[in-house]
Amino acid sequence: MKRKIGRVLAVRTWEPDTMREIDLHLPDCDMSRWQSAQHIKFKVGNFTYRDYTPSGWDAETRTCTLIVVTAHSGPGSRWGRSLQAGDTVSYLGVDSSHQQPASGRPLVFLGDESAIGHFLALQQLAGTGAEISGAVVLSEEHHRSEFGQYFTGWGLQSLRKSSSRDYAELEEWIAGLGIEMHKDAVFYLAGYSREVVRLRRLLRRKGVSPGHVRAQGFWN
Ligand SMILES: Cc1cc2nc3c(=O)[nH]c(=O)nc-3n(C[C@H](O)[C@H](O)[C@H](O)COP(=O)(O)OP(=O)(O)OC[C@H]3O[C@@H](n4cnc5c(N)ncnc54)[C@H](O)[C@@H]3O)c2cc1C
Repeated sequence: MKRKIGRVLAVRTWEPDTMREIDLHLPDCDMSRWQSAQHIKFKVGNFTYRDYTPSGWDAETRTCTLIVVTAHSGPGSRWGRSLQAGDTVSYLGVDSSHQQPASGRPLVFLGDESAIGHFLALQQLAGTGAEISGAVVLSEEHHRSEFGQYFTGWGLQSLRKSSSRDYAELEEWIAGLGIEMHKDAVFYLAGYSREVVRLRRLLRRKGVSPGHVRAQGFWN
């Protein structure tokens, strides 16, 4: 498959800088028909590729923003940390995550930092007026306040993540869920694969039907 090229327009770092918003210009990418959240397979090292979710896209200018977690040690994380305005990025292609916002239903998003771009993409597709709630777990206390400042008005709570591999806070959030109030809702789960499986199981136990849960593991 032929690789395509894009350019970094700007990088905004959160404080501490283990979360990065990366604005890209992807001239070969036709975004006009996106109807589900997408992921782009970027070259992050020699023979090494990782998927990241475009959010805030503008089909006319062919620009979008990635939100990349760079706290851990890995080729994708190092790539995200290294990017600066003016750099070239290369990617293999764009594919659908097959998650699209259910029309006319409340949407509940549950995930970790790596899923913020994905949730923003679903919000963009859902359009204004969509009823969105849910929670995102974040490791850094300051990221929680930035999350609150940047993403106002979409009903998503930020919760403290006390362990990178155990989302007890999201499990508690589900335990406290009044399922009668959410019986029409569709749940979108994304992030650490093992926890996504656990959260799906908890929702099933709560009585949420499998058809109302869309789950996607992002990392292992
Ligand atoms: C459809 C899809 C969309 C995705 N979209 C995004 C996105 O928008 N933003 C984003 O940041 N990631 C996203 N990811 C995850 C991304 O593709 C990489 O898997 C992730 O960045 C880890 O890659 P790595 O090379 O840095 O680490 P790896 O080499 O895969 O792993 C190295 C170590 O770091 C740990 N690790 C990996 N990720 C995390 C994390 N987030 N927190 C804590 N520990 C971690 C691993 O368990 C492992 O021990 C997406 C994945 C998929 C499948």
